[in-house]
Amino acid sequence: MSGLPKIDVEGLTSFIPENDIFEWLEKTKNPTPERVREIIQRSLDKNRLEPEEMATLINADSPELAEEIFEGARELKRRIYGNRIVLFAPLYVGNECVNKCEYCGFRVDNTEVHRKTLLTEELVAEVEALEDLGHKRLIMVYGEHPKYDAQYIHDTVREVYKVKKGAGEIRRVNINAAPLDEEGFKLVKEADIGTYQIFQETYHRETYEKVHAAGPKSNYLWRLNGLDRAMKAGIDDLGIGALLGLYDWRFETMALLYHTIHLEETFNVGPHTISFPRLEPAVGTDIDKITEKYAVSDFDFKRLVAILRLAVPYTGLILTCRESKELRDEMLSFGVSQIDGGSSIGVGSYSNSDPEDFKKSQFLLGDNRSLDEIIRELCDAGFIPSFCTGCYRKGRTGEHFMEFAVPGFVKRFCTPNAVLTFLEYLNDYATGDTLEAGLRQIDREVEDMPESKAKDELLERMKQVRAGERDLYF
Ligand code: SAM
Ligand code: SF4
Repeated sequence: MSGLPKIDVEGLTSFIPENDIFEWLEKTKNPTPERVREIIQRSLDKNRLEPEEMATLINADSPELAEEIFEGARELKRRIYGNRIVLFAPLYVGNECVNKCEYCGFRVDNTEVHRKTLLTEELVAEVEALEDLGHKRLIMVYGEHPKYDAQYIHDTVREVYKVKKGAGEIRRVNINAAPLDEEGFKLVKEADIGTYQIFQETYHRETYEKVHAAGPKSNYLWRLNGLDRAMKAGIDDLGIGALLGLYDWRFETMALLYHTIHLEETFNVGPHTISFPRLEPAVGTDIDKITEKYAVSDFDFKRLVAILRLAVPYTGLILTCRESKELRDEMLSFGVSQIDGGSSIGVGSYSNSDPEDFKKSQFLLGDNRSLDEIIRELCDAGFIPSFCTGCYRKGRTGEHFMEFAVPGFVKRFCTPNAVLTFLEYLNDYATGDTLEAGLRQIDREVEDMPESKAKDELLERMKQVRAGERDLYF
């Protein structure tokens, strides 16, 4: 198998009911505070919300009701997610691309971007540089090009898992790449990937077809059904997302919920994560013009994140370095569960920093803090950074994950695993203020745990980590 998959949309349909979305958004205008509170309560009782309920929250746009929604999201976060924040880094493998996505620096007709695909030794150097920082979880990102076929993705993932420098190793590789056919997904699964992430960019079909004028990505249905093919091929750990600024965020947020419901109804498994990147400036690209009509303000962005938190209480929410530190900090309290840290998005720029890096980048970052800085600040704000990769290695994905994703899950697995992986990080990579802040935070976290057998076991494993054992998890 080589090259891009043959696109076959026979029998494929859209599960995004555009008219229903518009109708719900219209019918639920001017909600009463009582109705909004009822919906927030249903979410606090850990129910996934229905489209009518999400539309009502979207229409609750006065500052007072928005604050109640924010507080609802904070409360849900406190009850379900605890203090842990999972950290990861993106690794750009190659920026060649045959598509013409209007908004992306990598699009085929952008002459200002420097094209680059990592050679094997360069890939290894990138991974070593990431391991030196302490990273354990990566998301590998690829343009869409015959070079980057399923075999190539499989081989590069395998290569990354092989790299071990000092105490470093990568324990989970997620993928952000073009949708494959079932055969391709099966091959990539064999490389032991974590999540396969595909963003629909915009679920609004007319807009989708306008901004993706050429190339395989121009086919809306092929992309929309991409994660169904992944699921059929046995990848049950999936990430969905919408790129904000192309169309009305209200529509996109509703469509993310419909995509979730479609996966739940068809496969009994919802998405593992949802991403909601806002469009960022990119080399050779007029982003202001593209987002002229639908740019999402900070206030609306916070609302949509809080609403997503309430609508899908058990789904991980990912926020990236595209956003500023101030906004990221605020949204962590709404239940964002994963962020990237110390990211570099030029192809090859972890190991080989070049002042012209931005010319190899897909877009420009809003948060340039180092991983060390982010970790220190997370600790000072009462969060516990986590490098945990326990679930997928223990088979807690897909339906199994849904079974486990009940109250108590975070307490049983996530928090102890966060403590163990963070302690490893502190032992192996941290110094000075970060080390002190981190150890203080671990003490606080462990002190807050009620006495139990599980706590005794955690304390025992912490001793083992201090004595030099690695990769212990529940
Ligand atoms: N080529 C694959 C694809 O398009 O699905 C995967 C890699 S692509 C580089 C990853 C994601 O970057 C896209 O799905 C899109 O949401 C996001 N992206 C593209 N241009 C962007 C921009 N200017 N600002 C923010 N995100 C952008
Ligand atoms: Fe290529 Fe993906 Fe960028 Fe589109 S978003 S131009 S497919 S890399």
